[in-house]
Amino acid sequence: MKMLLDGEWVDRDKKINVTDPFDNSFIDTVPQASTDDAETALAAAVEGFAITKRMSVYDRAQILFKTASIIAGDLEQFARTIAREGSKTITEARKEARRTVNTLTCSAEEAKRILGETIPFDSFPGGEQRKGYYYRFPIGVILCITPFNDPLNLVAHKLGPAFAAGNSVILKPATVTPLSALRLVEAMVMAGMPPMAIQAITGYGPQIGDTLVKDERVRMISFTGGLEAGKHIASIAGIKKIGMELGSNSPVIVWHDADLDYAVESCVSGAFWAAGQNCIGVQRLYVHKDIYDTFKTRFVADTKKYKIGNKLDEKTNMGPMITEGEAKRVERWVAEAKTKGATILTGGKRDGASFEPTVLENVPEDATIHYEEVFGPTVNLYPVDDLDDAIRKANSLPFGLLAGIFTKNIDVAFKAAYELDCGGVMINESTDYRLDSMPFGGIKYSGLGREGLKFSLQEMTEPKVVCFTLPKM
Ligand code: NAP
Repeated sequence: MKMLLDGEWVDRDKKINVTDPFDNSFIDTVPQASTDDAETALAAAVEGFAITKRMSVYDRAQILFKTASIIAGDLEQFARTIAREGSKTITEARKEARRTVNTLTCSAEEAKRILGETIPFDSFPGGEQRKGYYYRFPIGVILCITPFNDPLNLVAHKLGPAFAAGNSVILKPATVTPLSALRLVEAMVMAGMPPMAIQAITGYGPQIGDTLVKDERVRMISFTGGLEAGKHIASIAGIKKIGMELGSNSPVIVWHDADLDYAVESCVSGAFWAAGQNCIGVQRLYVHKDIYDTFKTRFVADTKKYKIGNKLDEKTNMGPMITEGEAKRVERWVAEAKTKGATILTGGKRDGASFEPTVLENVPEDATIHYEEVFGPTVNLYPVDDLDDAIRKANSLPFGLLAGIFTKNIDVAFKAAYELDCGGVMINESTDYRLDSMPFGGIKYSGLGREGLKFSLQEMTEPKVVCFTLPKM
């Protein structure tokens, strides 16, 4: 596929191969953009903003509604693109494609609800003759940098609200999964988006990133990805708005009175969805000691039913990791935990980029797999018997995206909701739940700011005050 630069779909002599991580089969190429291309994108995005800021809300919303309907009408092709270039099975990919339709539809709806308020200037002496209000205006050029694990919907989470608010965008999708992003941009242009409104630039982040991130024409960076890249970007961005959706190692507490059938089903799915490459995937399970053995037996039995394989096969439950290198990293971390005393209850083996769904217990606190974000198909079980202790352990690491608790006791649920330090607490659900329109984001190293259409629109606009001083009447 080509990239969209300065209003044209362009190719380059230097190309990047896009391959299926399951069997390394070739899918397509994308151009390898240079820093000159990044400069072109910056200049074009400024021109793009001159167009988007003058478009009516109605026109912007119609384009987003139409993009959503193009994707809805071609859902299977979008799902196949997600499944082939990334890690997801076709079933997981279809869900992502359906969510993308919802994300774009909600963005279009929210475009019509970018509101201001009147301001009571006469609430302080001297303001008697003043009347006014504030309205929200678009920020300008937004640099959107996206990860591989939701290669379509997480791009829609940036392009939808950015355009709904009247901004122009430079999109830098993950190099391993650029095709879903480019197909989304194609659909937006087909739906009537001025091509200058989006620069979709494909290339290696560490090569072209600094040129884009440092530039003062970029007024906001909306980044979703890992902590390391996030820290680098924040350190060189200068004076501009930054939104960061980073990783986590999500904790879930299973209390003694939980509905065990549902807790097991929800936590197994939450641990291994997208081969565990999921920012809200379950990584640490704190299980009450009274039900620990029963929970463990059922959890391991359900995990063993998982079938890894060809992602396009309807019967496959889990695909490979995104690269063999990533699978080797998880293999090393599991081996390190074992050396330090952890027990592997099931899984632990690698075949190419595929890593078995793996359940561990007795994981010591100094094992990497305990305190880092694994972003792979592993989960640790820990017995607990005191709620304060469970919450303290859940909060003990420097991440805080989502947390979960399974209990039928309202007091336990409320205590957890208020005392778990994170951006959201799921009661009777694993952490792997997100409604695309809810406020979504983390605290500590999990991020800065919130996404979720209405909330993204707040981040991607600024209030401007208008104050009239009237003659005395
Ligand atoms: P990543 O390696 O940090 O890459 C994310 C994006 O940043 C890619 O487009 C990458 O480009 C780009 N990038 C890397 N270095 C850069 C630099 N120096 N300057 C500019 N851009 C740079 O993350 P990933 O492996 O794709 O995704 C996994 C991470 O994302 C996990 O930590 C996960 O938790 C997090 N995540 C968070 C959320 C959330 O909403 N909180 C959602 C999904 C994922 P290249 O591909 O060219 O390297």
